[in-house]
Formats: sequence, structure tokens, C-alpha cells
Amino acid sequence: MNRAAPEQVIGALFIDSGFGADGHRRCPPRARYECLLCGTREGPVHGAEQVRLFVASIRTDHRAHCPGPQQGAQAA
Ligand SMILES: [Zn+2]
Repeated sequence: MNRAAPEQVIGALFIDSGFGADGHRRCPPRARYECLLCGTREGPVHGAEQVRLFVASIRTDHRAHCPGPQQGAQAA
């Protein structure tokens, strides 16, 4: 196990399948991503294909331009 993962981005991926409790579709599937490091919110995207692509790439995608932890007040 490799516990050292300095480049790991901590984020939350939210996926709504769009299906209601009765199994019928309420709305198109959608997904959004919220980075817990920088607070950036990506998405939401709508539609099965868009969601599939989003879920598959958002972590890598965001990591590429994540500014990292944002400090409200930086101690000079
Ligand atoms: Zn980020």
C-alpha cells in the first residue's frame, strides 16, 4: 500500500441517476463535482453521455488545474 499520495485531490462526486423511487425517470441524469481542497465546483452536467464522460474524467481533469487549498487569510 502506498500511503504517500501528495498529488491526490480530495473531492466529492455527486451523481443523480434521475430515477425516482418508483424506478421511473424523473429527469435526465446529472453529475457534479466539488473539490474539497480548493472549493471549486464543476458541473453540473446533464444527460447520460455527459455524465458518463464527466465521471470518468473529472478527477484527473480537475487535478490538472486545481489551485490547491485556499487560505482565507495568509499569514505574511
Ligand atoms: Zn481543486
